[in-house]
Amino acid sequence: MPLSIAIVGAGFSGAVVARELAEAGHVVEVFESRDHVAGNCHTRRHETGVMVHVYGPHIFHTQHEEVWNYVQRFGEFQPYRHRVRAMVGDQAYQMPMNLGLINAFFGTQMNSSEAEAFVNSRADASITNPQSFEEQGLRLVGRELYDAFFAGYTRKQWGVDPQELPASILARLPLRFTADDSYFNHPYQGIPLHGYTPIVEAILDHPNVTVHLSTRCSRAQLATYDHAFWSGPIDAYFDFEHGRLAYRTLDFQPEVVDGDFQGCPVVNYCDAEVPYTRITEHKHFAPWESHDQSVVYREFSRLCGEADTPYYPVRLVEEKAQLLEYVHLARAESGVTFLGRLGTYRYLDMDVTIHEALQTARVVQEAIAQGRAIPAFVVDPLG
Ligand code: UDP
Repeated sequence: MPLSIAIVGAGFSGAVVARELAEAGHVVEVFESRDHVAGNCHTRRHETGVMVHVYGPHIFHTQHEEVWNYVQRFGEFQPYRHRVRAMVGDQAYQMPMNLGLINAFFGTQMNSSEAEAFVNSRADASITNPQSFEEQGLRLVGRELYDAFFAGYTRKQWGVDPQELPASILARLPLRFTADDSYFNHPYQGIPLHGYTPIVEAILDHPNVTVHLSTRCSRAQLATYDHAFWSGPIDAYFDFEHGRLAYRTLDFQPEVVDGDFQGCPVVNYCDAEVPYTRITEHKHFAPWESHDQSVVYREFSRLCGEADTPYYPVRLVEEKAQLLEYVHLARAESGVTFLGRLGTYRYLDMDVTIHEALQTARVVQEAIAQGRAIPAFVVDPLG
């Protein structure tokens, strides 16, 4: 028997669950508070013709073949390798850390094994079990590289001392002793030919799915459906009963220039004195296109206020304790499943979001088929 399903949020989480349940025969309504789908992955053509990543750079990369095959169903992807430069002083380096960066920074001409031995000799071997971002950085590359490339950028990005941040944030970045300057290691990488928004629109394009843009859905309204999914902020669902979870938000200062601005998609500014964290030049995300002008975004990070768009969950110790309170409330609530970056308060990439949404849809469908209670979380937000 088909169920009536409400989904809050039309980013990848909400869209994928909507699609999966619609294909299983359920009737799905999606409520999105913004006037577009695709959440923070939203892309839009600028008047110059450049495809702009409205909420900052999004590069699709994954190790999950299932996820890669899934997104290919809904739009064409172009092969793309992300390359980033990092400014320290007035010198540009290859990022992530590789042989080129190490030799340029130390003024050496080492080969791979020499560079590895050299960086290991600089690394702080006394740190055996790194807990914080700073410990992880010092353990990995030592004081000089850490101070130059990680300390300033991270303080600007997160607004706190890197000693307070979890080591997992740094684990996102590769460290290589080869000349490879690709930003990601994953086997599947690409950018959608027409941007992310048409992909999410295609996922939602099913006769059993209705999308309501610029529409909020109250908790009381959600309770009128057989089941609901919430991919908005978990604290917002509970009307901030235990206070607001901390997020970082971003401000972009856009500029249009003739020709080319920086010759690559992203340049990080690692020095603490430079107020922005990075400059994105959007046309380089679509090297198959050609434009006379260029759109650049200077990116500034700050604490997310009540009226701002949340981007990065901060997840310091006190937020984790607060999150626990919300997790208890969620587990006591019946009829709602929480998912995604905002619903589980985790720093998730697009591919992980899709992977977890597919998993969520599968688990929920099994529960429906077996007449079991549908869980509040399929992926543990505290895990
Ligand atoms: N990071 C840094 N220096 C850099 C690039 C990254 O210190 O030049 C740190 C910073 O703390 C950042 C984290 O590594 O938040 C993850 O970087 P990533 O590029 O994955 O961030 P995202 O693109 O998700 O903002």
